[in-house]
Amino acid sequence: MRALVLALLLAAPVSAQTIEDPEGTVMAAGREDGSEAGFRDWVGAFRVKALEAGVPASVYDREMRAALYLPEVVARDRRQTEFTKTIWDYLDIAVSQDRVTLGRKALEKHADLLARIETEYGVEKEVVAAIWGLESAYGTYRGDTDTLSALATLAYDGRRAAFFEAQLVQALEIVDQGHVGREALKGSWAGAMGHTQFMPSSWADFAVDFDGDGRRDIWGDDPADALASTANYLRHWGWVKGQPWGLEVTLPEGFDYDQTTERVVKPVSDWRALGVAPAAGGELPEGDEASVLLPAGHTGPAFLIYPNFRVIEKYNLADAYVIGIGHLSDRLRGGPVLAADWPRHWRALTLEERKELQAALVALGLDTGGVDGRIGPKTVAAVKAWQKAQGLVPDGYPGPDVLAALRSPG
Ligand code: CA
Repeated sequence: MRALVLALLLAAPVSAQTIEDPEGTVMAAGREDGSEAGFRDWVGAFRVKALEAGVPASVYDREMRAALYLPEVVARDRRQTEFTKTIWDYLDIAVSQDRVTLGRKALEKHADLLARIETEYGVEKEVVAAIWGLESAYGTYRGDTDTLSALATLAYDGRRAAFFEAQLVQALEIVDQGHVGREALKGSWAGAMGHTQFMPSSWADFAVDFDGDGRRDIWGDDPADALASTANYLRHWGWVKGQPWGLEVTLPEGFDYDQTTERVVKPVSDWRALGVAPAAGGELPEGDEASVLLPAGHTGPAFLIYPNFRVIEKYNLADAYVIGIGHLSDRLRGGPVLAADWPRHWRALTLEERKELQAALVALGLDTGGVDGRIGPKTVAAVKAWQKAQGLVPDGYPGPDVLAALRSPG
């Protein structure tokens, strides 16, 4: 699902879609000749498809006549593929003291609502509140871009045409069904809507009418429907109440770094036997499946992640986002800040540098799953293999040191 000085810190930069594309797919480039006239032609041509999909002609004509081509939406979409933050820069904003403080106030203010949602859906109130906090700064920044215009612009642009065409059809159906006033159908530049930034398709599949007024209203000031919808979404994807998303751990001396990444799954008892321990002290919570994750390599914090981690991934695949939600929920519950320091002397590699790194690994006969600048499991595995061959700690983190060494081998 995707997707102002205190305001700026709380809202805009955090939508995790700015970290990397949440779909994890290689995409077409998008048109280079976008114009208002071209957009109007597209609106005329798309009418056939929309009507075939069930949108009444009267609704299509009325709403799409009013839809606008939004060049700034295309510009934002272009930028997101170029731009990468380090996880620590992201978390500084995602789990800032302000966001923790406001979250605790929100938990107090909506204590009854969140308790009822927790009981009904089996998702802890702090987790629901954390998603609310990251997606819209607890309802403060739900986005004021006209959703139909944003979706139509992105469908017309064509970088991910099929996806946005389907979202546009769904949004038109929302209008047709009267769940929200046309003027209130607003959200992010990417078409995500309401308190917890649902895309229209997620609204269709998961939104609930928690306050019982007959409308599934995730847009209005009252967050009841939106927060229950989010809990419903997490429940659907398998949230296990009472289990952590993950926790910060310490790794023992001589830890085998081949045992890291989401691909290595073991019972918690096995990790315990290997000497993995909570950074905050005490015992590891029980669990049948857990993995060790090093989001910034072996010099940064280590996490033991549980199946709930993969449930949060259904909101956004970026590790930084999932850790942001998880850690914010822990802080809202009164938990401590992270114990280990991030390697703050490193910066994020640019898209071109990530491609260069992949190309260098490919030239050495390793498989990075493409030279697209996208750091997926294959690139991580390739970095690990290279690190091992160099006698380095094989943590798989493609940092500036790896790139520098690949540029000047030997
Ligand atoms: Ca309702």
